[in-house]
Amino acid sequence: MSALNPFTIAQQQFDEAAARLDLTPARREFLRWPMREYHFTLPILMENGSTRVFRGFRVQYNTARGPAKGGIRWHARETIDTVRALAFWMTWKCAVVDLPLGGAKGGIVCNPRELSVNEKERLARAYVRAIAGELGVHRDIPAPDVNTTPQIMAWSMDEYEALLGESHPGVITGKPLAIGGSVGRENATSFGGMCIIREVDNLLGVRFERARYAIQGFGNVGGGLAALLHEADGHVVAISAEDAAYYNDRGIDIPKAIQHYEQNHHHLSGFDGGEEITNEELLTCDCEILVPAAIEHVLTNRNAPNVQAKVIVELANGPTTPEADRVFQERGIVVIPDILANAGGVTVSYFEAVQNAYNYYWTVENVRTELDRRLTAAFQNVHRMSREHGVDHRTAAYMLSIARVAKACELRGWA
Ligand code: NAD
Repeated sequence: MSALNPFTIAQQQFDEAAARLDLTPARREFLRWPMREYHFTLPILMENGSTRVFRGFRVQYNTARGPAKGGIRWHARETIDTVRALAFWMTWKCAVVDLPLGGAKGGIVCNPRELSVNEKERLARAYVRAIAGELGVHRDIPAPDVNTTPQIMAWSMDEYEALLGESHPGVITGKPLAIGGSVGRENATSFGGMCIIREVDNLLGVRFERARYAIQGFGNVGGGLAALLHEADGHVVAISAEDAAYYNDRGIDIPKAIQHYEQNHHHLSGFDGGEEITNEELLTCDCEILVPAAIEHVLTNRNAPNVQAKVIVELANGPTTPEADRVFQERGIVVIPDILANAGGVTVSYFEAVQNAYNYYWTVENVRTELDRRLTAAFQNVHRMSREHGVDHRTAAYMLSIARVAKACELRGWA
C-alpha cells in the first residue's frame, strides 16, 4: 500500500466530477462520506490454545439505490481508509452499470497465510456474527475480495443462516456453485474487460485485432483476461506478477504462461517465453493497450509521461493517481476507469443474488449475454457523457453515477 490516503484520492475524484453537476451543497457533502461504518473486534481461538483479537470493518457507503453491496478483504495492512475508498468505488460502480444496489466494503486486518483452515473458518464466522444484524438480502450483501475465497463465503453464508434458522443464499455472493453460486462468476471481471475492450475498439477506432496488450497482474483478473485475449487471437506482448515481468514483441504464449504460473504457486519468475523486464518497465513498454490488473496507485506522475499505450483499461481498482490522470489527459491517452472497466464482477454477483432470489439458475450463455448487454450500455452512456461534456471517461463515469445516486437521494428526501 502506498503512502497516499486512498479515501482522500477517492474524494478528489468525487469533487472533480461533482463540481460539474448541479448538486446542492448539502447533497454534495452527504455523498462525500459513508452513510454508516462499523468497527469491531473479533476474538478468535487459535490452534495453539491462545486467543487472538482481530479488527474488522464494514462500511455501507450509500444505500439510496438498493441494498449495500461489496466484498470483504483480508489483508495485514487493511485500514478504515482503504475500506472507505473501496466502498465509495462500489457505490459508483453499481450505479454506472445501473444495478439496483448501493455500495459497501468490509475488511479484516489479518495475514491469511499465517492462519490455519480452522482459524480461517472461525474468523469468517466471527465476522458474520459481529455484523449479522446489518446484513441481509435487503440490507447488505458481501462477496469475496482480496484473500477471501468461495469457501470463506460458504462458511459466512452458513453462519448467517444458522443465526436466522432459514435459507438465505442471496445474503452473500461469490459462493461455490454447489450452494447457490453463479456460473460465469470466476472470470466475470475479465469477460467484462473483454466487452469494454471491444467497445473501445468500435468507438475509438483502436484496431483490436492488431493491438498489442500489456497486462500487469496475472491473477484471477489479469490471467483471466490474457486467456480470453488468447482465445480471441489477441496479441499480448507483456505480462507480470508481483515477482517478475516478461516482454515478447512476437506475443507471449499465454497457455504456457498460465501453466508456469499455476505450477509455480502463482509466480512468473523463471518463465522462458520472453525477455525479463521489471513491473515498472511493463507500464511504459511499447503497446497500444495497457491493462493494470494488480494493485492500486501504480500509474503516478513519475511514470505517466513515459507510458506508450494509447488506451489504459483499468481492471485493478484505483491503479491511477489523480496526477497521472491529468498527464494522460494532456497526452491524449484514453483511460477507461475502474468503476466501469472492472464492473463485470459485481454485475455477475448481482445476477447471482437474482438467481438465489427466485431459486432458478441460469446457463453461462445467459450470464454472458446479460453481462455484455449491461456493460456495453454502460460504456456507451459514459462515452456519450464524455463527448457531450468534453471530459475524460473517468469524470464522465463519475458524473453519470453520482447523478443517479443523487437522484435517488433526492427522491427519498435525503439531503
Ligand atoms: P489476484 O490476487 O488473483 O491477482 C493479483 C495479481 O497481481 C497476481 O498475479 C500478483 O502476483 C500481482 N501483483 C500483486 N502485487 C503486485 C505488484 N506490486 N506489482 C505487480 N503485480 C502484482 O487478484 P485479482 O482478483 O486478479 O484482482 C486484481 C485487481 O483487480 C485488484 O485491484 C482487485 O481489486 C481488482 N478487481 C478484482 C475483481 C475480481 O472479480 N477478482 C473485480 C474487480 C476488481
